[in-house]
Amino acid sequence: MNRRYRVLIADKITPEGLAPLEDDDRFELERRIGLDQEALADALVDFDAVLVRSATKISAQALAKTKRLKVIGRAGVGVDTIDVAAATRKGIPVLNAPTGNTTSAAELTFALLMALARRIPAADRSMKAGEWNRSQLAGTELSGKTLGLIGAGRVGGEVAGRARAFDMRVLVYDPYLTDEQAERLGITRVELDEALSQADFVSIHVPLTDSTRGLIGPRELSLMKPGAMLVNAARGEVVDEAALVEALTQNHLGGAALDVYATEPLPADHPLRQLDNIILTPHLGASTGEAQRSVALEIAEGVRDALLEGDLSRAVNAPSIGGAEMQRLRPLLDLTTKLGRVARTLAGGPIQRVKLRYAGDRENVLRPLSAAAMIGLLADVVGRQAVNFVNALHLANERGLKLERTRTDRMEAYGEYLEITVSGADTEFTVAGAMLGEEHPRIVRLGDYYVDVVPSGCLLILRNQDVPGVVGKVGTLLGEAGVNIAEYHQARHEHGGEALAAIRVDQPLDESLIDQLAAASEIVEVFQVDLRE
Ligand code: NAD
Repeated sequence: MNRRYRVLIADKITPEGLAPLEDDDRFELERRIGLDQEALADALVDFDAVLVRSATKISAQALAKTKRLKVIGRAGVGVDTIDVAAATRKGIPVLNAPTGNTTSAAELTFALLMALARRIPAADRSMKAGEWNRSQLAGTELSGKTLGLIGAGRVGGEVAGRARAFDMRVLVYDPYLTDEQAERLGITRVELDEALSQADFVSIHVPLTDSTRGLIGPRELSLMKPGAMLVNAARGEVVDEAALVEALTQNHLGGAALDVYATEPLPADHPLRQLDNIILTPHLGASTGEAQRSVALEIAEGVRDALLEGDLSRAVNAPSIGGAEMQRLRPLLDLTTKLGRVARTLAGGPIQRVKLRYAGDRENVLRPLSAAAMIGLLADVVGRQAVNFVNALHLANERGLKLERTRTDRMEAYGEYLEITVSGADTEFTVAGAMLGEEHPRIVRLGDYYVDVVPSGCLLILRNQDVPGVVGKVGTLLGEAGVNIAEYHQARHEHGGEALAAIRVDQPLDESLIDQLAAASEIVEVFQVDLRE
């Protein structure tokens, strides 16, 4: 009989949540709560897996002695209490449980919406102060009002369903949501500015990524209707807190409710705490018995599947896979991920299908190349930290992305050639790259244009009229802003038609410079893709 897997439960975890491990005699569970790092390091020597919530930290020191540990499970989403880099170095996957708290987060959002609409915290404060202030505590109905959702994934989707049950009109800004998904949720997709300017209530449900940090700043708040209300139970840094304080102080907004903050715990003297027209909760989205149970179940199943079947689809890190062969593939994989990022940016609308074509001599590369492409395609959607080699195909599948992959013979011009075509309801874009020798990656195709660009730094892609003076104008604008051009590649189909410029610069351009470029009469469109690591 095989040896039983020993699992250490290092934090208080709801017992029913542990059933997948407890009820299976291939596992032996032991609870040791509140170990310090030294005691934990000694304990982990004898365990195959450890389960934690947020109380127990797993530092490099805690992992130093163990040779047996095969998996770390975090019952919850955030893994900031775990030294993921140290775990990765030791080849130990770290799993988390991102879906178990969806319902609780959606219900808290709705509680905040209703508390805002009916001014419940203010009414409660007033009653406890001995008052009976009915005239000053009048509220507003949700029925018939417009809810603007920023992001409609798991939590946003659940909020949308509840809002429809309350007879609200739901507008959604989520550039990655396909028409099919929008239809299933019964919502209307709009641009960000429209969602903000039409909504009576705005609720944020995006992950924290490069493109969502500060997404709701002074400009966006000013676009909201006077008296509109804002709820953020996603991540604090998505909203510019100083701008929100200003909008509430000026009474431009009717109110706001926050469950999350740029700094947590929120400092005791923070200006947000001084305002009357805001409701604050201390990151309570997942704080229900049900969420704790389902998160525990999710992680217990994850740890079981990882130990028994090697299923690492819930891993947040990617411990070295494939060893030497993977190392040889690394430059091609990196190029593929970068092509994915370019394709995502230039595709414009939501993507439903991804076609990947590899032309070259290597065998068995389609799966790792597909994962690499998905890492690039999903980096902006779920956040760069959240997608890796282990979970990329799983995440793509979960988001309904259809993948087709083919391998063809080596092409005469290139040692290895990799092409990615992404398409959606009204969008299709092809990007291709090639390896010149083993170490020299190039982007060789952008849409219908053939180019030759090194995929590093930041890539600026312009569609422009093929008329004299454009290169000079762009060069001057960039030069005046102190941006160094490393490479400038101009491609066109026919004289005087439309052309494409692929410009490699050393640092990303800020929004205002991009706007200046886009405002030039010869320039049709400007895209920027950050290809730095
Ligand atoms: P999800 O990944 O399922 O959904 C996120 C959605 O945001 C996706 O549909 C994605 O397409 C969209 N999106 C990504 N970038 C965008 C952008 N730039 N603009 C507009 N839309 C964009 O995530 P989820 O599980 O629904 O979680 C949503 C947020 O709620 C996350 O920030 C999560 O951390 C947070 N959360 C908070 C609590 C809490 O305790 N307050 C609990 C659970 C989740």
